[in-house]
Amino acid sequence: MKVGPSDQRLALDLGATKFAYCVSGGRTAWQPSVKQIPWLGSAENEFAAIAEFLDEDHRVFGGVPVICVAPTLQAGRVLSWPNRSYWGGFPLMDALQSVLESPVVALADGAAAALVDAGPRNDVHYISLFFGTGVAGGVVDDGDVAQLGPLNPELGHIVTNPHGEICVCGRRGCIQAGWIAFQDGRLSFGDLVREVGALLVTLSRMFPRCVVSLGGRLVTGGTATGEQLLSDLRNFVGHDAWSPEIRLSGEVSNAPLAGALLLDRESGYLVQGRLAFPGASTSDRDQFVSALQAAGVPINRAYPPLFELPAYGRTPEPGATFEQLVERCPNAVLIGQTGFSIHHRALLSGPDDLQRVAQMIDEAVQSVRKNRQ
Ligand SMILES: [Zn+2]
Repeated sequence: MKVGPSDQRLALDLGATKFAYCVSGGRTAWQPSVKQIPWLGSAENEFAAIAEFLDEDHRVFGGVPVICVAPTLQAGRVLSWPNRSYWGGFPLMDALQSVLESPVVALADGAAAALVDAGPRNDVHYISLFFGTGVAGGVVDDGDVAQLGPLNPELGHIVTNPHGEICVCGRRGCIQAGWIAFQDGRLSFGDLVREVGALLVTLSRMFPRCVVSLGGRLVTGGTATGEQLLSDLRNFVGHDAWSPEIRLSGEVSNAPLAGALLLDRESGYLVQGRLAFPGASTSDRDQFVSALQAAGVPINRAYPPLFELPAYGRTPEPGATFEQLVERCPNAVLIGQTGFSIHHRALLSGPDDLQRVAQMIDEAVQSVRKNRQ
């Protein structure tokens, strides 16, 4: 992989069994490269296989790549991944940023798919459920992935049958366990419809009149057509003031990658900064970034050369030279080894949230400074 100033955008998808990525620019059609992730028993070895696969490609890309991830991340590390539990604690974001030599933005795969299916209304929530190896899901509110807590929601692990089978997550009766039992022939289609229906009723009580899109193998194959599934589910759910609108996903395959490319259109805007106190080092910067990531601020380490602009930094273009940037913007300042970048979404919130983020950043800087003394 080569990073360079380019209007080509890179999107990546780390799924349960496959790793995929694609480069897209303008109206160019995109064709993902896909690799089965080998089962090697350690995160380091499996990531090395992914890195090698990425390295075979010498196309350039610009902007900030977005990766859709099946595992749950916390502060850039894998917090939980039932399918590959030995990835727990693996510093995925750091490893990717090293391989790509670029900041990277992570997004839950269900949330990425939900962005693709979301419509224009801002008075209802759009929910996507994707039935692949497992069940991934996400919630979109007013065109943006809904942040419902400090971690991504796990719609696939909502319990829909307390007497159901044990799930990979350790609980009994998640919708994902029901989906896997159905695929293995241990659960009838009618029983699966009842479980999915129960999930939709629950979701509609939390998000009244939400719009739910169903995608993946549940609607593309198996014992029922998409239309039959819709009609069975609508019968189960019934109709009242809270009832969801149920529909089939427009994006049958590669929904997470398509969602990542949607988000990436906006994620070219990063605010860049640097630790400016005397003697600040790369390890101070890393400590600062980790503390803020743990607090949920969408911040990344920046790799030199990065530049500080008088207004918001536009596309950071890690491969651009300082001279090229000065030519475009005479006020460019070299940030160097202690730089970081914050996703612009952090700065598009209300005044109270902005105040809170500013305060968190200030506290993190003070804490790093204090540790040095
Ligand atoms: Zn589960």
